[in-house]
Amino acid sequence: MTGDGRIAAVGANADVPTPHAARVFHFPDAELLPGLINCHTHLELTQLGGGVKHDEPEFHKWIWHVRTLKDATSAEAFYEAALAGVRECWARGVTCIAETGSTGAVMRALHDLGGRGIVYHETFGPDPAQCAGSMAELEAAVLQLRRLATAQLVVGVSPHAPYSVSAPLYRASVAFARREGLPLAVHIAESQAETDFVRDGAGPFATLFGKRSIPVEAQHRSPIAYLAQLGVLGRDTLCIHCVQVDDADVELLRAAGAAVAHCPLSNAAHGHGRAPYDRFRNARVPIGLGTDSVISVGELDLWAEAAAAGLGGEAALRALTIEGARALGWDSEIGSLEVGKAGDVVVQTVRPSGRPTVLLTVVSGKIVHHISGQ
Ligand SMILES: [Zn+2]
Repeated sequence: MTGDGRIAAVGANADVPTPHAARVFHFPDAELLPGLINCHTHLELTQLGGGVKHDEPEFHKWIWHVRTLKDATSAEAFYEAALAGVRECWARGVTCIAETGSTGAVMRALHDLGGRGIVYHETFGPDPAQCAGSMAELEAAVLQLRRLATAQLVVGVSPHAPYSVSAPLYRASVAFARREGLPLAVHIAESQAETDFVRDGAGPFATLFGKRSIPVEAQHRSPIAYLAQLGVLGRDTLCIHCVQVDDADVELLRAAGAAVAHCPLSNAAHGHGRAPYDRFRNARVPIGLGTDSVISVGELDLWAEAAAAGLGGEAALRALTIEGARALGWDSEIGSLEVGKAGDVVVQTVRPSGRPTVLLTVVSGKIVHHISGQ
């Protein structure tokens, strides 16, 4: 690697010259991979793992339960959770994350530890009357977090989901993001309850709106078509989940150049069903894999996500590296071992079966995880 943390050469030891001052490691019986990319995390929720029922059958109740737990958590606890979450990623060979959160804790943790990622700051406000207040909060938070941004640490914006964001707030937050050149992430087409709410103005989310006297409007279209109509979908938009989609929705995503974060284990844990991974691939919609939060899936294991997506071997490796990079728009920078790309690499035990042990993790040429004795 070069002094600025980029890959200078790739090849067999005999073929690659060893620069004079380089630190040399030998790992017999190990493999060198590009660092893995987790396209959807909520690391600020890491420490809430034991506190949430994984098996709450009703999604809207689960969402409410998470909000209640978050309200009872201090800023310090979120930061500690974020530090632990980032280190956990590195210990599992993940060198880049796409995080959505509302506290800024993961941005601070990645900044302080020297990590790589995009942190999409969430905005909420189901009532159109909340739009101005939510935007003021979002803009102030993004202004703060942007001070921590670097070439490898980017701030984005995430209007959360159709049952937590009004149409005016979608429009305003997306206009803000585009004006400022910030990438977008949205939770979309995740549950049947969400589709019932968007399409028909019905179901449990509509009942919750009724209790809070928030107006509900049937859109007579799918959640993806609703976002397309609002102008949310673009080359800068990462669409998380995308389970409840048909061929017309896939075409809308393709035409907009939007990307998908596929979270098969989270979708299964909540009983949402399966996203049509192959249809996205066939349509050339960029798609990466994400673990979602520990409170959804129990632990963050990207290899298990790949297996749940029906992928093994080289296909799994590509999905977790270069295809994830493409979904985040970072494929010219990371995702493969190529001269000139950032030195985000992982050394792990060869895995004939079972989970590999990650021996060394490097982000931009800097060692961030190293099992001593190796
Ligand atoms: Zn999520």
